Amino acid sequence: MNVLQKVTTLNELWDARSILPEPVGLVPTMGFLHEGHLSLVKRACEEVASVVVSIFINPTQFAPTDDLEAYPRNLERDAALLQESGATLLWTPTPEIIYPPDFQTWVDVEEITKPLEGAKRPGHFRGVTTVVTKLFNAVQPQKAYFGQKDAHQVAVICQMVRDLNMPIEIVTNPIIRERDGLAMSSRNTYLNPEERRAALVLSKSLAAAQSTYEKGERDATTLRRIMEKIINTEPLARLEYVSCADYDTLEEMSIISKKALISMAVYLGKTRLIDNVVLE
Ligand code: AMP
Repeated sequence: MNVLQKVTTLNELWDARSILPEPVGLVPTMGFLHEGHLSLVKRACEEVASVVVSIFINPTQFAPTDDLEAYPRNLERDAALLQESGATLLWTPTPEIIYPPDFQTWVDVEEITKPLEGAKRPGHFRGVTTVVTKLFNAVQPQKAYFGQKDAHQVAVICQMVRDLNMPIEIVTNPIIRERDGLAMSSRNTYLNPEERRAALVLSKSLAAAQSTYEKGERDATTLRRIMEKIINTEPLARLEYVSCADYDTLEEMSIISKKALISMAVYLGKTRLIDNVVLE
């Protein structure tokens, strides 16, 4: 079994990167790893010769009111999990390495960042696309792995890669869920036992909409109402949005006539959770 190499500075990364067997895959994360992250690492291990994992809690994708300081961290445990999963190289840059004091260049993707997560989290995707560009430039992978859990993020990254001719293949992996259906997320650790139970409304409402769709319903408003109704039955849940959108453009649909994304953001107490299902 290979030993996981750990680097922090750009020079350390470049030295290590220059002798990695090709092709190289990158799995960008914010750490506090769970089976969702590890599914990306394992997939990468099957597809590329070297798997680089970055752990960086990117301050520019958090709003001032977000949970940046509280975001869970456990680097030692993460490194042990990555070693077990077969990753080759772990890069943990500091905020100063990614954003030196004179930093002034941003990557901004336009239309596709406007609805859904972009509408609720102004500036979020600008932070994501900027950091992902920096990670891509630093690591120069042939492939990069992202989870369908953050469906809007995947759509934005794919748009950016196309628009900027980045020579990187974006690979997307399905959502990994707990046994009871809750999508795995580092933020699930914030939930108290009552909120954890109540959090099942996300996957339940998506499942109800999906099964209604599979029975032949094609009216998007009906599916949105079904999801809203189930979420509103849970007193601990506060709905931020539900959506039934065109999978490619993320524009809201009225009639579902092609591949669609049903998605939502729901607060349980102070914790904001997202989830989604693709309707093929
Ligand atoms: P994060 O650390 O939250 O930035 O996530 C890093 C990567 O893991 C992103 O591409 C996420 O979409 C992906 N990811 C997070 N949770 C899951 C999950 N439950 N299933 C699949 N992928 C996930």
